[in-house]
Amino acid sequence: MVQDTRAARHKAVQLTFPPEISCDPLVCHLVRDFDLTFNILQAQITPRKEGYLTLELIGAEDNVRNAVRYLKDQGVKVTGMEQHVRRDDVLCMHCGACTALCPAGALRVDADSRLIVFAAERCTACGQCVRICPVRAMLLDVEQGTL
Ligand code: SF4
Ligand code: SF4
Repeated sequence: MVQDTRAARHKAVQLTFPPEISCDPLVCHLVRDFDLTFNILQAQITPRKEGYLTLELIGAEDNVRNAVRYLKDQGVKVTGMEQHVRRDDVLCMHCGACTALCPAGALRVDADSRLIVFAAERCTACGQCVRICPVRAMLLDVEQGTL
């Protein structure tokens, strides 16, 4: 099924896998059983085989909630994270590539200056501009938040 990522919820979570389940393919179930897509923001396995994975889950609100419950039932510690997107104004070369993608209207061309304006208060931190920006001027920060 093709997912409408503009309407979907974007929720960042940090997953902590105890050693005994750190190699289980639990994340595959998020796609197959809960109709979610995801982006891996960070991944790490410690020498003691404990796994840490920070994911951006994308999907319907109920599916995200049910997937989180599923992961907890499997013994995964799930911590809510908050995403924030900011722009490095020095790096931005005002190419405009990001403006067509932004579903929130947070990036637009100023009619007078022709420069790209970033309205952070409108940004939903979906990350689409972060992936498209050729000079990595759009930056995604992830910090601990609520589920
Ligand atoms: S794609 Fe990057 S460089 Fe181009 S206008 Fe957007 S933020 Fe600036
Ligand atoms: S992350 Fe980028 S594309 Fe997404 S809403 Fe914010 S400015 Fe727009």
